[in-house]
This record gives sequence, structure tokens and C-alpha cells, in this order.
Amino acid sequence: MKRISILGSTGSIGTSTLAVAEQFPDRFKVVAIAGGNNSELLEAQIRKFRPSLAAIVSERSAADLRERCKDLPVRILSGVEGMIAVAAADEADITVSAIVGTAGLVPTMAAVQAGKDIALANKEVLVTAGELVMEECRTRNVRLFPVDSEHSAIFQSLQAGERKDVKRLVLTASGGPFRNHSAADLAKVTLQQALKHPNWNMGKKITIDSATLMNKGLEVIEAHWLFGVRPEQISVLVHAQSIIHSLVEFQDGSVIAQLGMPDMKGPIAYALSWPHRLPDVSPGLDLASIATLTFKEPDLELFPCLGYAYDAIRTGGSMPAVLSAANEVAVKYFLEEKIGYHDIARTIKATMDAHRPVQFKTVEDALKADLWARGEAEKIIASKD
Ligand code: MG
Repeated sequence: MKRISILGSTGSIGTSTLAVAEQFPDRFKVVAIAGGNNSELLEAQIRKFRPSLAAIVSERSAADLRERCKDLPVRILSGVEGMIAVAAADEADITVSAIVGTAGLVPTMAAVQAGKDIALANKEVLVTAGELVMEECRTRNVRLFPVDSEHSAIFQSLQAGERKDVKRLVLTASGGPFRNHSAADLAKVTLQQALKHPNWNMGKKITIDSATLMNKGLEVIEAHWLFGVRPEQISVLVHAQSIIHSLVEFQDGSVIAQLGMPDMKGPIAYALSWPHRLPDVSPGLDLASIATLTFKEPDLELFPCLGYAYDAIRTGGSMPAVLSAANEVAVKYFLEEKIGYHDIARTIKATMDAHRPVQFKTVEDALKADLWARGEAEKIIASKD
């Protein structure tokens, strides 16, 4: 029986993780969960999975939740302290890190420091502080299992050979809703169009990141840290059907890929059950009915965010943290319909241009750079109108 703690239980990955736990009750026990601010959903999850610890962001929601759950033996906390307590819960064997954005960094680091294995769904944790997090994992002998479908595919494909024989990682990208748009089409896109992902049903932030290809840029940085490969060994391939989840090219010319229907339960279950494979997790793959798989190079002129991510990781130090924080701010304004689609890339570029990179020694350094970038991005957006 593996005991699981979930950061971000009410989000898209969190609910899929609970679906996996529900499907295999004799394998997984959910011992702690933390959610954003949806206290009704969190209450339903507590009633169903009976964790001994739960946390919610605001103290007000926590008070409300304590009242709703007073008939249950569950301790309910709030704020960052609550997230940290869930992340490092005594009973947990593995912590699922699925809080969106830099907000996931401190609790994830707390889980690593408590020696918990990590199933990592939050990519901003590694983008913001990859070197520090990986170093801490090595020190504490913590295993980091990727949940992102591309990184899970690479993790699975890497098992076909030795690390020293890896030539290149190829991350596939659906290309998002605008993959066939021209520059003129892109100038007119709306929030509603950006929120309609053709293949994956995900949270709002990652859906917008997919529409700008920033999601793939963040994944390039994530892959760099997870697998210890240089940025020039990581390429991106647009594959509209999202059936091949990523590929590894070895030095003999062999390419190993992982395929499956686009469904997050697969990568989640694998991260939780490695090295075992559980039965009937994802819908079956019927290649004959799919018939055609297509591939093309990403267009960095139409989707500059992907190029900015490569720039950031080549520059190194604090630059990836700044890229990610500026993106979070820009996406937030875009979701509020206060800026247009192209303003997301412009804001990120201007924030990076204004930044003088430094090296991080601590998580606090990373959070400082994150905060600086948020302020700078806000200023850039405000000065636009
Ligand atoms: Mg992904």
C-alpha cells in the first residue's frame, strides 16, 4: 500500500490522481490533501478519501471547512504552513506536486526535505529553481517521477538504454488551438478560442500556455533539469494528434517513443506505481482508427515564447525564473481580458530584457527573482495603456 499526499487536489491533475487512487483502493491510500479555495470540492474529497490532514489556502475557507467536516477525524490547516504540512505529512510515502505556478515551489521543496518521493506535475518548480531542487533530491536520496505526459514518456523511453548513449530528447507538442493560424489570424484570437485546447482537457493556465507554446518552453527547461541534458539536445516537434507523447534518440540512431491516448491518468499512475504498470488505466490505443500521425517543426516566429524559453535556459541563473514569473502575470491578465494574446509574449520579452541574471544559492533567492519579475511585468503591462 502506497500512501499519497496531494498538493493541488482540487485541480485537474489532483482530481485525476484521486480517480487513480479510487480505481486501485488496495494499492493507494490518500493521507493528506491540499486544495486552492474550492472548499465544497475539498469537503467532498475529504468525505470520500478520508485523509487525516487537509489544507486550503485561505484561513476563512479553512474555518468554513472545519465546520463542514466536524463529524470527521481530519485536521484542517491553511496558508503556506498548511501546504507544507500536507507536502511533508508523516504518513506519506510520495507527494504529488500539482499546485500551479511558483506557489508550488516552497511546499514541494518541503516534501523533498522531508524525504518524500515526488510525483511532479508542476513544471514551474523546476523552471524556477531546478538546480536547487535537483540538488536537494540528490542530497536526500529522493526520487522525482515526472507526471507531465512528455516527461513521463521520456522517462519511460529512457529505460530502453543507458543515459550515456542518449543523443537527443524530442518533446512532442500538439501545437495548441492556434497551430494552423497565420500571423494575421493570431492577431485576432480571443480568450475563448485560446481556452479551447484541441486534445487535452486541462487547467486554464496550462491551456493558455499551450496556445502560446510557452508550455513547451517550460517543458524544455523541465526536461533539462529532470534528465540532465543540455538545451541543444532537446528539440520540439509539433504532432497534432498527441498520440506520441515524446521520444528519445540514442546514439546508434534508434528512436524510442511512448504512445497512448491523451489521458493524464496514465502518467499519474505510472509515477505512483513505478516500476510496475497497473491494469486498464488509460483508454486503449487504436492506431488503425487514428490512421494518420503528422509532424512539423514549431514556428518560432509565430510562437516566440518557445524561443524565449531556450534563451532563458541558455542564459541560466535567474532567467528561467523570470521567464516563468512574467508568463504567470501575463497569462493572468490575459485570462482577465485586460491584455491581448500577443501581449503575453511581449510582456515576457520586455521583462527578460530588463533583467540582470544572478545565480541562486537558496530558494529565497529564487523567490526574490520571481517577485522582481512579477513587479516588472506588472509595470510593463500598466505602461502599455
Ligand atoms: Mg505536458
